[in-house]
Parts: sequence; C-alpha cells; structure tokens
Amino acid sequence: MAQRFSSRPSSEPDVLVRLEGVTKHFPVRTGRLLQRGSEVVHAVDDVTLDVLRGETVGLVGETGCGKSTLARCITRLVDLTSGTVLIDGEDISRLSRRRMRPYRRRMQMIFQDPYSSLNPRRRVGSIIGDPFTIHEPKTSSDQRKERVQHLMELVGLNPEHYNRFPAEFSGGQRQRIGVARALALQPELIVADEPVSALDVSVRAQVINLLADLQDEFHLTYVFITHDLSVVRHVSDRVAVMYLGQVVEVAERDDLYNRPRHPYTKALQSAIPVPDPDEANRRARTVLSGDVPSPIDPPSGCRFHPRCPKAQPRCAEELPLLEPRFGDSSGHAAACHFPLADGEELPEAPPPEIANIAFSGGPALRMHDNEKSAIRGDTP
Ligand code: SF4
Repeated sequence: MAQRFSSRPSSEPDVLVRLEGVTKHFPVRTGRLLQRGSEVVHAVDDVTLDVLRGETVGLVGETGCGKSTLARCITRLVDLTSGTVLIDGEDISRLSRRRMRPYRRRMQMIFQDPYSSLNPRRRVGSIIGDPFTIHEPKTSSDQRKERVQHLMELVGLNPEHYNRFPAEFSGGQRQRIGVARALALQPELIVADEPVSALDVSVRAQVINLLADLQDEFHLTYVFITHDLSVVRHVSDRVAVMYLGQVVEVAERDDLYNRPRHPYTKALQSAIPVPDPDEANRRARTVLSGDVPSPIDPPSGCRFHPRCPKAQPRCAEELPLLEPRFGDSSGHAAACHFPLADGEELPEAPPPEIANIAFSGGPALRMHDNEKSAIRGDTP
C-alpha cells in the first residue's frame, strides 16, 4: 500500500524538489546456472517528500536503506521504476538525456569518496573545469582557467595548485575539489552523498562549515545524505529517516531530536556518541536485535517489525501511513502504528508475542531464511 502522506508545511511553501511516490527497483539474478531466477531489490519504495528552496534536508538511515539510490533518483542518475520527481513544478522523471541537460546544470552531486570520485590521472584544474567543457563549450581556455581558479579560491584551495594531481592533496582538500566542481555551474540544488564520511574527524567540521558558508553565499538547497545522525543534526533544517527503502519519519530537526515518534529514529538517536562519559553512562542505549532484512523480500506490514522493540501483531500485517501522530504539526510525520509518546523510552526487547512470531519459526523467520538464501544466491 502506498504512503500517501507528504510532509508539507501548510503555508505556501517554496518547493524546489517534490518527490511523489518515487520508487526504484533493481532486478537481480539469483540461483546458479540452469536454475536461474530473477528477483527485485526494493531499493526505494514510494517516497513522497518536498525539499524547500534554501533549506537543507538530511536523509539519514543505515547503510543499504536506499538513501543513496534516492539521491540518484532525484538527480536522475538512475531511471525511476515509478513515481515522479518535480523540479520547480516541472516533471523531470522521464526526460530524455538531451532534455535533462538544462536541469543537470541546476543540480549537482558531491560524492562520498574523495579518493575514487576524482580521476587520479587528470589535473585538478581540468577536473574542476569539466562542467564548463560539457555545458559551456564556447568558454575559452583562459576564461575556463580563470573561473576554475576562482572556484578553487572559493573553497579554500590554493589557485596555484591548478596543475597538480589529486594524489597531491589530502582527503579534505580532495573533497573541496569535489565541492568546487559541483559549484562550477552555479546550481540551485546540491545532493551531497555522505560528503564527510570518508574524511578524518579533524577535517569533517571544515568541510561541513564550508558547505554552510557556500549555502549562505549562493542560496543553495542541500539534500544531505548520511548514516550519522549527529552530522545530520548539525547541518539540517529538516530530517527524513529512511529504513529499508521507505521514509519512516520526517520532521524539523529539533522536533525529530526532542520528540522522535518512530522507534527506529529513537534507536538511531540512542547510538549517537556522547562526549561526556557520565552522560553516556546515564543514557539508555537501544541495541536493535537482528540484521537489516534483505530488500529483495522486505518484511510485510511495517518493514521494521522484525527488529522493533514495540512491535505488535498488527505491525506485521498493515503498513503504517506516514502521518502526524499525537497532534504533531503537519511537518512532523511518522509511519508507526504505536508511536512513541513524548519522553517515552523503548523497551529492551520485542514483546514476547512478536519475538515468537519473528524468531521462533513463524512466518517472519521463514521470510528471513529466504532473504539469506537470496543474498547467498542459493537455488530456490
Ligand atoms: Fe514498531 Fe509497529 Fe511502529 Fe513498526 S508500526 S515501528 S513495528 S511499533
């Protein structure tokens, strides 16, 4: 069943990106020769979300929850299975490569790994100048050099290092090269896919601060993807939490941190490291049982139910809608039948009746075995 709720502020919002039921499935082959079958990885399922102009939306979730695929759907680096992506009200979901060109200028990506996202055999000036070569081929080489050096200066790189190779830069500097490349065409939207995860802790703050400064200067809109809730807290205006291809909670940043409604959000929150050891000892930490299920055969009903400490039998049967709970504002929505009240802590383990279903040979366990077989590629 489709998630029909969209977290949209009630006053006239200036929506830059609108996602409506965005779905991306990847077919995969399973089994061995002569007994091959095909299945589908449900990478992103029915995501509806708005990104307002000038804001930063954090997309957060565990590795494999579909956030990077969603980023690629937004920027049309992959084709959608179904659903719609609108930029300024224009549907770009099915545009040809040629008709996508004007939109490519308006949205750029920053990738996670500053080591592999730059061609080691090319000079930095040529890498940053790529967008000019592709989108503005009439730019003379002198003009291109001047603009590239200006960009290098903007992101805190020495313009005299124009002719150096990526290997001559540190990790943080390489990510700055990626940022400069993304800024070249003065985009409106930047989708940053784990932009600081591969960096040393000491340089993360520098890159985050650089992105914040650039946002102020150029009125950029960011979709900021990370598995780290503490980073997303620092950079986002609103946060969308993803689990197994679906958005399970979306809210203004402070709302999400102060009053999480979805048990998965609460569990993610409890895993944020706290610098004060006394505070860390006082704080309840939720350890989720089980692995993230395979997106090839996601659990029925609420996809989080095999791991949820609050799960009830209804959760395995009925997909919860993403909607406001406990009279929350329209901007705070959670997909949960039994959401957390203000200040409520999660129980230690799933209730016995769910534990019996999920872990003692009931339907959920059989499904889990199938998932493992699919991952291993066993013969069905
Ligand atoms: Fe947990 Fe049920 Fe809510 Fe899903 S719907 S998060 S299983 S309580």
